[in-house]
Amino acid sequence: MRVLLLLLLGVFCANQFVMGQQATKPVLVIHGGAGTILPQHITPEKEKAYKDALTQALQAGYAILNAGGTALEAVTAAVKLMEDSPLFNAGKGAVFTNEGRNELDAAIMDGSNLKAGAVAGITTIKNPITAALAVMQKSEHVMMTGSGADKFAAAQGCEVVSPSYFYTPERWKGLLKAKEADSLKSILDHNTPGAVLQPENRDGKYGTVGAVALDAKGNLAAATSTGGMTNKRFGRVGDAPIIGAGTYANNATCAVSCTGWGEYFIRLVMAKSISDRMEFGRQSLAKACDALVMDALPKLGGDGGLIAVDKNGNIAMPFNTAGMYRGSIKNGEISVAIFK
Ligand code: ASP
Repeated sequence: MRVLLLLLLGVFCANQFVMGQQATKPVLVIHGGAGTILPQHITPEKEKAYKDALTQALQAGYAILNAGGTALEAVTAAVKLMEDSPLFNAGKGAVFTNEGRNELDAAIMDGSNLKAGAVAGITTIKNPITAALAVMQKSEHVMMTGSGADKFAAAQGCEVVSPSYFYTPERWKGLLKAKEADSLKSILDHNTPGAVLQPENRDGKYGTVGAVALDAKGNLAAATSTGGMTNKRFGRVGDAPIIGAGTYANNATCAVSCTGWGEYFIRLVMAKSISDRMEFGRQSLAKACDALVMDALPKLGGDGGLIAVDKNGNIAMPFNTAGMYRGSIKNGEISVAIFK
């Protein structure tokens, strides 16, 4: 009996270790943007469409984690699916610039080695997150912009599309409305034209997409992709492709992907500030996220939210807006939500 018990204990312990490392239960968290998303603003059909899209992205990413894939592979797969959905302001369905173009930003980071890749203002790569990944894996750089980034990604085998691929009638209408209100002001996805960039007006929705994951080997990764702001001009770039602002991952702390009023997230160095609070201030993920999203961000006049997972698998999804498209899988259990 004793021998049998010892044997069982041995098998249990062996299961807890993968290649010399303690096995972790994989976790995946995603977002599809935050903002004034209220039940009365959304039809049941649209709500179902969003929840289905979030569920599919979660399932795609989690299947990879479950099969022993890396956090990096999982966040790439989840973001790719959301880029392909016209519901979100990333890839197909991205918002338009003042000049009627779609200029896309994306970033990815591997918490196991602090390698990162980002692209800004690209116009011809179907899945901008694959371009960011190519920058990280196939170049000596971290960030590429504009036509150079497009050329590099195409040369690395990323799928190329005509700029017209990104067009959707809803986003085009959004640009016309924004211009009607004020031809020169850029606004965030679904903001109320005429009240743009006014801190007192919060009728906005930020449709950026993102994913963070913890894999079975304890590695963290983060990915974010966006079309940025409607009616943006002069090559404006938001927080999403800026490592440390909209996207960050570090195995020592956490992985973070942000959505919201990019300028404020850049000024707060949002994602890295959360990591720093954990690393140097010994704060929990929840406490660090709250300090930034629920306190520092509104104090500065910004709004939005983020998703995060720490090295122990704890999840945080704080937002100071009415809603945030979000979802997670932990212990195999899937959950998606939109409202508070
Ligand atoms: N953060 C993005 C930007 O400022 C917008 C968004 O989250 O939708 O470009």
